[in-house]
Amino acid sequence: MENCLFCRLVAGKIPATQVYADDETFAFKDINPVAPGHILLIPRRHMENMLDLDDATALAMHRALKNIVAAEKLEKGFRVVANTGEHGGQTVFHLHWHILFGRHMGWPPG
Ligand code: C5P
Repeated sequence: MENCLFCRLVAGKIPATQVYADDETFAFKDINPVAPGHILLIPRRHMENMLDLDDATALAMHRALKNIVAAEKLEKGFRVVANTGEHGGQTVFHLHWHILFGRHMGWPPG
């Protein structure tokens, strides 16, 4: 999608610090990290949120997540967040999973 920020990022039209890529997914460092480690994992194909996620892409996202967790050595743990819709706090409407790590996470989230 021409006017989607993350579609433009995947296409290389917006700079990003890539940490992982495969045929179906792409991951990069969040420009405004809220934890010592903050990676965004996205599907290359445009989809707005978790409810648009098809089975094949969900599997690809999960496989990518496991590859990132292994590469970043996150055996102490991490948090995956998918802000969804207005009340979920979503601001970019291309599905993304926040992968947060490097500190103890509080609960409940804000
Ligand atoms: O869940 P939400 O939609 O609010 O998350 C969007 C995220 O995209 C934010 O954490 C923001 O810092 C990140 N972002 C980015 N690079 C951009 C634009 C936004 O990492 N160029």
